Amino acid sequence: MFNIVIFGAPGSGKGTQSDLIIDKYKLIHLSTGDLLRKEKNSGTELGKQIKEIIDKGNLVPNEMIQKMVRKFITDNKNCNGFIFDGFPRTTAQAQWLDQMLDEINTKITLMLTLDVDEEELKKRIMLRGKVSGRADDANEQIVENRIKVYKKQTAPVMDYYKQQNKFYIVNGTGELNDVFDRVCLTLNKLKN
Ligand code: AMP
Repeated sequence: MFNIVIFGAPGSGKGTQSDLIIDKYKLIHLSTGDLLRKEKNSGTELGKQIKEIIDKGNLVPNEMIQKMVRKFITDNKNCNGFIFDGFPRTTAQAQWLDQMLDEINTKITLMLTLDVDEEELKKRIMLRGKVSGRADDANEQIVENRIKVYKKQTAPVMDYYKQQNKFYIVNGTGELNDVFDRVCLTLNKLKN
């Protein structure tokens, strides 16, 4: 299997690049943000709890995420590979994911980080907020909190993959197709 963790701050283009990667490399997209938003909109009690957390820009508890991810991986375990988007977001989640993948005899091939500077991130998220209808995209304070949470809790996940020699970074600014060309250069080197 070819398993990619696509990584970067909120607004770095993970979702957009994931769509292009899935198409070219025939992978399955696991976006924890998308799964959570689906649950949030379902009107269940769990959905209400999730809404409270997401709308503040904080992280949803690990147990909830792990349950969701375990089901998704198990349901799709015979695919060519996964692209993990928005997950793992903490070192604990990264450790758990390694164990989970071990259970189905596979592992992460690489982490691909999209590098975008902070001013550009804020601009992109606020712009997206105008069309996405996402409350967490439209409010400047929430956006700031998401970037803060990213720096404190999520950025250390890069070290986890650096230690495993699986860390790759590409410049995420510029035209979408130019970014994708850079992404493919890296992926093609690692795809067997
Ligand atoms: P995203 O679409 O990846 O930006 O995620 C939107 C929101 O969902 C985040 O701000 C978090 O509140 C929540 N979320 C998504 N993925 C995770 C995760 N792996 N762990 C905890 N919370 C998450």
